[in-house]
Amino acid sequence: MISFEAGVEALKRFIGRGGDEAYFANEADSLHAAFRAKATVHAGPIGLPMLFGAARLKLEALSNETRTKEAVAYVHVPFCSTRCLYCMFYQNPFDEAASHRYAELLEKEFGLWASRTVQSREAGGEISALYFGGGTPSALAPRDIEAVVTAARRELPLAEDCEITLEGRVSDMTEKRLEAAARAGVNRLSIGVQTFDGDIRRAMMRVDDRDGILRVVERMARFEKFAVVIDLIYGFPMQTEAVWAEDLETARNLPIDGIDCYQLNVFSRSPLAKRIKTGQFPPAATLAEAADRFAASDAVLSSDPRWTRISNTHWRRTAKERNRYNTLAKTACDCLAFGSGAGGRIAGHSFMTERRLKAWEERIEAGEKPVFALLKPTPNWHLMRTIASSVEQGPFNLKAIGEVFGVDVDRLATPLLGQWVRAGLLEKSGDVYVPTTAGMFWHVTLAQFLVTSLAKKLAKDASSLPPQAFESVCRPVEEGDRSRES
Ligand code: SF4
Repeated sequence: MISFEAGVEALKRFIGRGGDEAYFANEADSLHAAFRAKATVHAGPIGLPMLFGAARLKLEALSNETRTKEAVAYVHVPFCSTRCLYCMFYQNPFDEAASHRYAELLEKEFGLWASRTVQSREAGGEISALYFGGGTPSALAPRDIEAVVTAARRELPLAEDCEITLEGRVSDMTEKRLEAAARAGVNRLSIGVQTFDGDIRRAMMRVDDRDGILRVVERMARFEKFAVVIDLIYGFPMQTEAVWAEDLETARNLPIDGIDCYQLNVFSRSPLAKRIKTGQFPPAATLAEAADRFAASDAVLSSDPRWTRISNTHWRRTAKERNRYNTLAKTACDCLAFGSGAGGRIAGHSFMTERRLKAWEERIEAGEKPVFALLKPTPNWHLMRTIASSVEQGPFNLKAIGEVFGVDVDRLATPLLGQWVRAGLLEKSGDVYVPTTAGMFWHVTLAQFLVTSLAKKLAKDASSLPPQAFESVCRPVEEGDRSRES
């Protein structure tokens, strides 16, 4: 497998250049080799950057915006007890005292915008999903988990049936932590299992063995109120077809509510990349092998009557799994964000908080929202975000989206989507495009190519677009406030 960065570079060489033909897929083998490179993170329109003071001023103004009808909130916990070999999201080593202080400051951050419109209970819709991610939120001490979740529920305008997810590692899921999480109101646990194979787990510096994982899953499942969801990763070095088949077989028979299957990204500066380069590990799966692993997931989970696919990469066994945060976070809805290194979004403006723990702490102590950078939306951001998130989710209907925005995107997209149908990435059923197994494997790339193609076509004739194409149609009232957009 080429590194993540090499894939991005390969995409950059042709994305945005030329017409639709640049995005035509290989009709001879769309599963293994649809395109020259694959986008593996979320697709969508890119914004215009603002930094430091300018970002802070803009976010201050945005904090008085009315929330979108549906909104989510994200809380980042930037500690991990060990660093997994493939990870580029590791920020700080876990330290009991530092994380306790962090939990106290998080409570303070929740209160910073308590009187602002964007966080008020009265204005805008309710927050229907709250996600504690990281890092490893489950590394926090039980009392800190309870305090932080309770504070978030007190200070944020959460819906009555809000999905509250705690992300974590198997080894953290002690009885005490689970009890604390349940008492505080967590109703969903997202656990990074990645693989059950002991050799690969040890190689990747994951701490539990297969039996330990199975014991902890049983423990979590005893808590009726939790939807338990596990992540699996395909493409690890040494993860042969047989190992992946065994991973799927184990996972589908567990008493859990959801399974997410992700492709491994090999980041060029990760410890994993270095070990592959020096020959300590065999290479990770090639793109074609990864496609086969994904196809195996689809074949195994989609043919099991107990499991239902609810997005391109996610299956659920029970209705307890709602997958709200993951679904909504990709859309154009607002996302309030808290913690060091958190990413949020208000009125199409994406923002990132301070990643450096010390800087984040100082700003919170000073009573300031610790924003570090902000991306202003491009003019057609909302339409593009809606299209990208629909393609990333599964079957999509451009005609329906176009009617909401008053733009015939279906017509504009027909030459490209028609070719993808011929290549076997999509099937058409009425007005709906349904991804095939190959289309699901390439879904982020499809989303990115489609919005890039459409953005170019729309930009050519921007003056003829109706105003709602540029507006946040899910944002209620407050039209006057838009004049503050700088
Ligand atoms: S626990 Fe998660 S965030 Fe932490 S190092 Fe491992 S993969 Fe990265």
